[in-house]
Amino acid sequence: MGFNESVLICDKVDPILNKILKENGLKIEYAPEITPEQINERIGEFNIVIVRSRTTITKEMIANAKNCKIIARVGVGLDNIDLDAAKEKNIRVLNAVEGAMNAVAEQVLGLMLSLAREIPRADREIRNGKWLKKELMGTEIKGKYLGIVGLGNIGKRLGRLARALNMNIIGYDVIPIDEEFSKEVGLMKTDLDTLLQSSDYVSLHVPLLDSTYHLINTKKLSLMKKTACIINTSRGGVVDEEALYNALKNGNLGGAALDVFEKEPATGNKLVMLPNVILTPHIGAQTKEAQSLAANVIAEKIIQVLRGVI
Ligand code: NAD
Repeated sequence: MGFNESVLICDKVDPILNKILKENGLKIEYAPEITPEQINERIGEFNIVIVRSRTTITKEMIANAKNCKIIARVGVGLDNIDLDAAKEKNIRVLNAVEGAMNAVAEQVLGLMLSLAREIPRADREIRNGKWLKKELMGTEIKGKYLGIVGLGNIGKRLGRLARALNMNIIGYDVIPIDEEFSKEVGLMKTDLDTLLQSSDYVSLHVPLLDSTYHLINTKKLSLMKKTACIINTSRGGVVDEEALYNALKNGNLGGAALDVFEKEPATGNKLVMLPNVILTPHIGAQTKEAQSLAANVIAEKIIQVLRGVI
């Protein structure tokens, strides 16, 4: 069965999404550089609007979206879509949690190993003509305690990968943690404070909500071991960056690796002045595999919604 709905794709997405939707008869306007003003003017013409992270779908846009049935995010977080406004207009909002799961978990492993062996610094110094073999004495992650805050899709995937590298896994979530997963990785379930006190690495995998804003603040950081490292690939606001800067600068924390920031792009962030910090520009889900998987998942979900299956 073919459909004839019109689709506006506002961001750069994997071509597979275009292909599947076209094969199903949908009319696509691919506009990866469209501006918010242009979206406001034109959104009324479309039945389906697709974004990644560049575009924010505002209340005003939704008010103009007179024919819209579906807004889809080719990714996980829905913080760039006004969900209340969409709900009020009965617009279905779709996302693709499956896409990012492995990509972000692998990024955390990369960051953890980079912190343990100072790989970015080793590379920088050799380019500066320095051979710091003696100074670059690292540690191994095998046998260390990894505290995972938020055991949803990404947190669980990370737990499995880290267990395979012989790390000990500590977990905290506000909802009951999957028993099968807990057994598989030998999870030590605990409260947040105990997790922070006991971990060599802490990795954050919670959504950004009122209740998780600055979840990691001065008080929480003070619970961590002086040698411990924190890794944030969730959302910027989950960590109080000012508190993190002070903890690192004063030697109260071993290191940090951040993929997400309170303000993005994070150029000019003062954390760059500290040596024990590794920064990446929100690339957790930026793999060919993740983008292609997310595009496939979104295309399938759109077709299923149009068929009335989901
Ligand atoms: P998910 O919804 O599957 O899991 C989130 C978990 O956090 C849930 O189990 C939830 O109960 C738990 N949680 C909520 N509040 C909590 C709290 N106060 N304390 C402890 N646990 C709490 O989400 P996910 O797909 O695993 O994604 C996790 C995070 O990663 C999100 O913030 C998402 O936006 C982010 N993300 C980042 C990238 C990137 O490029 N860096 C890519 C994808 C997702």
